Amino acid sequence: MIKHVAVIGSGVMGHGIAQLYALAGFSVSLYDLQEELLHKAKASVEQSLDLLEKEGVITEQDKSSALERIVLTTDLQQAVAEADVITEAVPEVIELKWQLFAQLEQFAKPEAIIASNTSTFSIARLIEKAKLPHRFIITHFFNPAQLVPLVEIVRHEQTAEEVVTATVKLMERIGKAPVLLKKDVPGFIANRLQTALMREAFHLLEEGVASAEDIDTVMKAGIGFRWAFVGPIETADFGGLDTWQRVMDNLAPELDQSITAPQIISEHVNKGELGTKSGAGIYSY
Ligand code: NAD
Repeated sequence: MIKHVAVIGSGVMGHGIAQLYALAGFSVSLYDLQEELLHKAKASVEQSLDLLEKEGVITEQDKSSALERIVLTTDLQQAVAEADVITEAVPEVIELKWQLFAQLEQFAKPEAIIASNTSTFSIARLIEKAKLPHRFIITHFFNPAQLVPLVEIVRHEQTAEEVVTATVKLMERIGKAPVLLKKDVPGFIANRLQTALMREAFHLLEEGVASAEDIDTVMKAGIGFRWAFVGPIETADFGGLDTWQRVMDNLAPELDQSITAPQIISEHVNKGELGTKSGAGIYSY
């Protein structure tokens, strides 16, 4: 029976995942390298819970109980000692994850599930150095984790069946819509789809076809509006596969040239313009 969850890394994703589990009634240990980061994370959780309360999604009691269930710690051994599930949300650097996994294998209960929130690494890559590969799985939450329903689950052939079953059930228990991949591919499903869409959005911007605002409007008022209800494959089905086949064939020569990330992205990145987190990206914030 899963009762205690440890979340390692309290940044953008970690604090949201901690909130999610705490609200669902689990005891949560939230770990990070510095106290200051943990307090910032807890303040973000409180702010998010305030908003949910104001919107009538949760009660004042739900909020205070959830906050009480989150224990902050900078002691990794203490964070994971009681954990039935450990979710890591540390930066997307493979050496960092391997280093952390080695410590988790040492400190965690032998039956604990070790779940990674990686966005890009395959489970095969993640467990390359693992001594207990059967305990590892990917649960890929989406930002903001406390709100977006989807969680992609990726297993390895060495992942124990009981780990897969328990993880799917756990995601359902915390109100998520889990999708278990049939194959271990980097980028999974959502980031493969998102990257393709984003790459084209930036190429359109770079080629001067439309402004950033207008490209975003096309998505929000048109494609995205429809895609809130139907997926791309349903869309193709509804529109006519023959029609979409012609669209794809006619556009293929254009798209072949735009398979790599457009230069406009690196120009902004090189200037430190990373988006909302740096105060400017394509837009200013
Ligand atoms: P982030 O930089 O916001 O947070 C990472 C946190 O990990 C920081 O608080 C940092 O202090 C902490 N950290 C660094 N090294 C650590 C270590 N050795 N041990 C413990 N904590 C450590 O990053 P994020 O955006 O939350 O991303 C975390 C993971 O989630 C990455 O694998 C990322 O690819 C994935 N992810 C991110 C998003 C997103 O939209 N940001 C979405 C889905 C998945």
